[in-house]
Amino acid sequence: MCFPLDPITDTLSTHPLASFIDMTTTGPTIRADIAIIGGGIIGSSVAYFLMREDPSLSVAVIEPDATYAFASALRASGGCRVQFTCPENIAMSLYSIDFIRNFEQTMASKGRPAPVDWVEGGYLFIVPPESMKNLELNARLQQEHGCVVDLLSPAGLKEKFPSMHVDDLGGGVHTPRDGWCDPNGLLWGFRRKAVELGVTYVPSRVVGADIDTNAVRALKLSSGERVEATSFINAAGAWSGEVARLFEMHLPVSPMRRFEHYFTAGSPLESLPYVKDTARLAFRSEGKGFSGGLVDGSEQRGFNFDVDHDYFERVVWPAVAHRFPAFEAAKCHRTWSGLYEQHELDGNPVIGAWAQRPNLFTVAGFSGHGMMHAPAAGRGIAELVVHGEYKTIDLTRLGYERVETNAPYGEKGIL
Ligand SMILES: Cc1cc2nc3c(=O)[nH]c(=O)nc-3n(C[C@H](O)[C@H](O)[C@H](O)COP(=O)(O)OP(=O)(O)OC[C@H]3O[C@@H](n4cnc5c(N)ncnc54)[C@H](O)[C@@H]3O)c2cc1C
Repeated sequence: MCFPLDPITDTLSTHPLASFIDMTTTGPTIRADIAIIGGGIIGSSVAYFLMREDPSLSVAVIEPDATYAFASALRASGGCRVQFTCPENIAMSLYSIDFIRNFEQTMASKGRPAPVDWVEGGYLFIVPPESMKNLELNARLQQEHGCVVDLLSPAGLKEKFPSMHVDDLGGGVHTPRDGWCDPNGLLWGFRRKAVELGVTYVPSRVVGADIDTNAVRALKLSSGERVEATSFINAAGAWSGEVARLFEMHLPVSPMRRFEHYFTAGSPLESLPYVKDTARLAFRSEGKGFSGGLVDGSEQRGFNFDVDHDYFERVVWPAVAHRFPAFEAAKCHRTWSGLYEQHELDGNPVIGAWAQRPNLFTVAGFSGHGMMHAPAAGRGIAELVVHGEYKTIDLTRLGYERVETNAPYGEKGIL
């Protein structure tokens, strides 16, 4: 089934899923096999992979904002890395990075390439001496999973990156096949391709649900419409905890504000990978400057997009200038804020069905890694919905059961 609709201008009155009118609601009832709540990078990836798994499906994505003004995806810095310790995360990274590397061609839509500006610039984790043992263990684990990983001593770091201050470091791990891409290109590449394959984007917000004791029956939209489906997928990012409550499900995913800055160095320095340290300083090159920030995990939770224009000067600049003296005279040109979809239990996503209402699936709570894992997570949940099991990567351990049993499954690497 293929609906030749423009993703921005399609409306309920014109799309084929709106053909059934339910007299008990204020608008038409939309019927679909699968309804996805949230059409950000995760929801759009899920939609695409559902159609790939079964082209006969009817899939409706409920997304209120085609400009994605507040979506996390368009505020992300684009980093993609294999430096994790949970095997599921490493496997998702390997799959997703490979997918993103080939995205421009494989996701071309209607003859138009889908550029994502992939830069294979590498990632570099640097740690103080007391964290070196852990970093070595992590590196070995990543190597066992087939990742290209170079362990570097302070001298090795200095040789590779001469402008780096290394005296207080125990060493670092360089993963040269990691990199970064354009999140906007990735999101729209998924969305355009999903639409080409027959997915319908419904421009409205989910505000309620009809639920039985053991199933979700329908969604209620802010526009007055109702969406009936066989399966429902919560892919609402930082809003997924709120959305879960509509189904009487407790999902401990909170919105956590994070600043991103565009800055330039005071003097020239060699080409750098995406640099991360244990204080959660993270930055990469972008054009003539750099994009990055320093994550404050204690940030008060909430839908707060206010920008603290002193944050760079106060927090980021001292950290970056300490590590690379070339940033002593750094200049911050722009600061913006975005939301991490923080999973409070363990910082890993919740991916899977809910035993109490098994036709409700969740794919949320990536805690700042959702862009890079969107391809693998989308594929995984599509397999689970269509086949009832994972085919490519076993994501069972990331299921909701660990929330119900309060059994965190966290990362041991720096985040
Ligand atoms: C500053 C910053 C830097 C980041 N850097 C990186 C990075 O380098 N690498 C990386 O992998 N990740 C990064 N992230 C995290 C990444 O952006 C997220 O993990 C990812 O975007 C999550 O995708 P999503 O689709 O779940 O959420 P979103 O992109 O936020 O999409 C969720 C969608 O749900 C919709 N929605 C909300 N409520 C409802 C409702 N009731 N009904 C219907 N729809 C609804 C919203 O409109 C939104 O479009 C960063 C995030 C920030 C803020």
